[in-house]
Amino acid sequence: MTRVYNFSAGPACLPEWVLNKASEEMLDAHQSGMSVMEMSHRSSEFEDILNTAKARLRRLMNIPEDYEILFLQGGGSMQFSMIPMNFLKNGADIINTGQWTKKAIAEHKKLGKTNVVASSAEDNFTYIPKIKQSDLSEDSDYVYICENNTIYGTKYKELPPHEGKMLMADLSSCILSEPTDVTKYDLIFAGAQKNIGPAGVTLVIIKKDLLKDSDTLPSMLNYKTYADNNSMYNTPPTYGIYICGLVFEWLEDVIGGLENMQKINHQKANLLYDYIDSSSLYSNPVNKEDRSYMNVPFVTGDKELDAKFVKEAKEAGFVNIKGHRTVGGMRASIYNAMPLEGIETLIEFMKKFEAENA
Ligand code: PMP
Repeated sequence: MTRVYNFSAGPACLPEWVLNKASEEMLDAHQSGMSVMEMSHRSSEFEDILNTAKARLRRLMNIPEDYEILFLQGGGSMQFSMIPMNFLKNGADIINTGQWTKKAIAEHKKLGKTNVVASSAEDNFTYIPKIKQSDLSEDSDYVYICENNTIYGTKYKELPPHEGKMLMADLSSCILSEPTDVTKYDLIFAGAQKNIGPAGVTLVIIKKDLLKDSDTLPSMLNYKTYADNNSMYNTPPTYGIYICGLVFEWLEDVIGGLENMQKINHQKANLLYDYIDSSSLYSNPVNKEDRSYMNVPFVTGDKELDAKFVKEAKEAGFVNIKGHRTVGGMRASIYNAMPLEGIETLIEFMKKFEAENA
């Protein structure tokens, strides 16, 4: 068996510890004589899997009791609509930092007043715009951000001001990569397929006092429905939630928590950025202080050479390293599950390619 180094932006590589454990439990999980995929979601075994996953996540992220943990479907993209459906009354202030806020803006516009209060579009989203409280609209209900921009490789290092307004944040590509002060947010969401587990699960962490009954919202689009039913109003993505639980177990018991994970992630990202900055072939276009620890785009400045790099990298066992079509070049997504050796061997390959193509 040959495992490759998978630099995909998502679905992304998972910890081998998780894959091995899932494989051991494939035919008989939790002494049930069946796979988790075959279990009723109403069984005591599955309920235990879900509650254990929630308890582990609560400990890992230090989620206070006045926040609810929900498992939804519909991906990160459904949140672009669900947030305004539940919370947009007078207006939403959105900071445009790329593709995933553009999509959120488009969905918000269908549902209510949408104010794009800042944008880095004019510079192809290579930085995070800094805003002041006075840039916000007087009557808006919330500020909406995408905390880590998967395509452009930017990340908020400090949250924007949002006094008197709720803060809704898309953490799809940075959740669990570092400790998060959950109390600073009103709602956090993340598609699972980067740092949490397999595609098909969307995690939502929401302040309990925001959960409200509604006569007009469809049940499946009201967060309260999920909260009232322990995320089992309908059949949840059971196997996906089980894998998320194994990832939480890995983070707690193998990695030793999010402070440790952050240290490892900083070490990995700094190694790669330092090499790119020192190289005369590759460059990273992002404002240094806004660089992501999870997604590292880089270019050679020559499209043909970029294509050659992607092809030769694949042959050498570094896959999914092509940049997003809107940015071009390469992008190494180095989520939690990418080991340090993956970065070290990638840098060796990059050096060799640089020497051969100087
Ligand atoms: N937000 C971010 C930051 C993303 O990277 C993505 C997808 N990669 C999405 C939202 C959309 O997620 P999904 O494909 O699960 O709808």
